[in-house]
Amino acid sequence: MTFPLRRLSAGCLAIAMAGAMLSPAFAQAPQPAKSQAAAEAEAKRPKIESFTLENGLQVVVLPDHRAPIATQMVWYKVGSADETPGVSGIAHFLEHLMFKGTKTHKEGEFSNAVSAIGGEENAFTSYDYTAYYQQVPVEQLKEMMGFEADRMENLVLTDEVVLPERDVILEERRMRIDNDPGAQLSEAVDAALFQNSHYGIPVIGWRHEMEKLSRDDAIAFYNKYYTPNNATLLVAGDVTLDQVRAMAEETFGKVKRRAEPGERHRPQEPEPRAERTVTLSDPRVTQPSVQTTYLVPSENTAKPSEAESLDLLADILGGGATSRLYRALVVDQGIAAGTGAYYQGTALDDGQFMTYGTPRGEATLEQVEKAVDAEVAKIVREGVTPAELEAAKNRVRKALIYQRDNQASMARRYGAALSTGQTIAEIESWPDRIEAVTVDQVNAAARTYLQKKRSVTGTLLPASVESSAEAKAPDGSPAAAGAVDPTAGAPVSGDTRS
Ligand SMILES: [Zn+2]
Repeated sequence: MTFPLRRLSAGCLAIAMAGAMLSPAFAQAPQPAKSQAAAEAEAKRPKIESFTLENGLQVVVLPDHRAPIATQMVWYKVGSADETPGVSGIAHFLEHLMFKGTKTHKEGEFSNAVSAIGGEENAFTSYDYTAYYQQVPVEQLKEMMGFEADRMENLVLTDEVVLPERDVILEERRMRIDNDPGAQLSEAVDAALFQNSHYGIPVIGWRHEMEKLSRDDAIAFYNKYYTPNNATLLVAGDVTLDQVRAMAEETFGKVKRRAEPGERHRPQEPEPRAERTVTLSDPRVTQPSVQTTYLVPSENTAKPSEAESLDLLADILGGGATSRLYRALVVDQGIAAGTGAYYQGTALDDGQFMTYGTPRGEATLEQVEKAVDAEVAKIVREGVTPAELEAAKNRVRKALIYQRDNQASMARRYGAALSTGQTIAEIESWPDRIEAVTVDQVNAAARTYLQKKRSVTGTLLPASVESSAEAKAPDGSPAAAGAVDPTAGAPVSGDTRS
């Protein structure tokens, strides 16, 4: 049976991609310098427009006329953090089941239609949203809209299709989490960091709860959340607003509004009081690492300028090869193979600020942890300089232009932000808000949020090593061979960062 395997790999890719594509490690990867011509093209970028169908579906159009292709993304405002306690994994399970048949199309018809025209498709589930997308030649966009609109209301779920797919998600969990000590540690860190929020529960679900997920659970979730008034349709590509409006009305416009999910009120975190540590030792670990995750506000929950300040603070502290952490640990002290920091701010509820490091050569994990902590303490104590802030703003600006250059990443940025409480106007004004951040605001954010009592430190060790003081990069590993990778050791999570 190739179909479940294909879905499995698509699903694996999907969850991993949500973190990898948009993690700062990705955003900070070496980027080609943009030419003047590219900057001018960027300035002439067509305007992003939006309208709402009568059934409540918000439609956002991102024109991009460089090639005759289109990206369709449907974002449902529901993710794993909306799940009922005890039914973890149902959001992701339903994502898989959405590839089963409907009243009008047999299982596989939609996917076959996409591949027959050389298109690409995927889907992904996160804490705050679930999204489905296809990238196709623009002539096939309406056909894709028809398929996507159809599965918004006509999904057919029987035990015959639901139960085998449950084995697929259990296998996905085994491959992605249970066989990966780094993923197990991330899961344990999240569970320790979030003491009340559902962000402490893995997107894929806890195994013992996944094993009990039923057809009724899937249908209840589908009927409650998969309604046009709980979704956003993003169309990026060689289209105009009027073309999209006409096609959307003929397809999605016929889907009935079948539920009122209402406001999303989920359990919130209390003020953290105790520093926590989580250690995982496993014989499969080849590269020891340490990460510290701080509970911070998200773009949605932050006070004005706080999220932007945290973005810039992460860049100055640990964004790439010019950052303080990299210069101190990799260049000056030569003790780390990789180190960095990033802010994960695209979330409906709280966000996270992370630092990480991996030892190199003879250096111990304890040395790396102390050196990371020393840099954090220094930035809290002494603050950042105006020159550092200016350079960080420049890098953020360049990263945004680079992101806007890619149709799919633009659609992802808008979809994720719109699904986590932001408006188009807020997304559009983000560069201006970054520009307005002051040194004092960055320093205030560092003092307020980079406190150990707000954090969980996770340590990943080879099983044979008794204490972190003895943990070294093993012989033959890239670190031992002297390879330096600014992104090594960056934790990948199920959530996104744009
Ligand atoms: Zn999956």
